[in-house]
Amino acid sequence: MFSRYSCTYCGDSAEDLDHVIPHSYASSTGKRSYKKTKVVPCCRRCNSLLGNKHYFVIWERAAYLFNTYKRKGNKLLSLPEWTEEELEDMGDNFKKDIKKDRHLKEKLIEKLNVLELVHLMEPTIEDVWEEILLKEMKQNG
Ligand SMILES: [Zn+2]
Repeated sequence: MFSRYSCTYCGDSAEDLDHVIPHSYASSTGKRSYKKTKVVPCCRRCNSLLGNKHYFVIWERAAYLFNTYKRKGNKLLSLPEWTEEELEDMGDNFKKDIKKDRHLKEKLIEKLNVLELVHLMEPTIEDVWEEILLKEMKQNG
């Protein structure tokens, strides 16, 4: 399930690398290290939410993100489900809004599912890179 291009925690596109152990703790010199023993691929949103949070293993970070996304998305998650018939009777603008919210809600649920899975799997940084490198080796024949 892990890839260089997808967030280790939520599965979105990864633009960043997350320091599982924040570099302010890991490094006595204060220099950032991007060694594969310290970082995992991560999306910008998860990375900024994690900031310098004191969670030093992947599953704890996933659990923190799960709770944060769930809390932030509470309104979206509690939206009522409309049937297609009900939607038919609505005005175009309202219908468009509902469809947009429904799409966002689906995306959020997908994200929460991935976060929960990562939480349960408890992968180490080494597990993540091992899977990524193995997959890439297979793809390259
Ligand atoms: Zn993410």
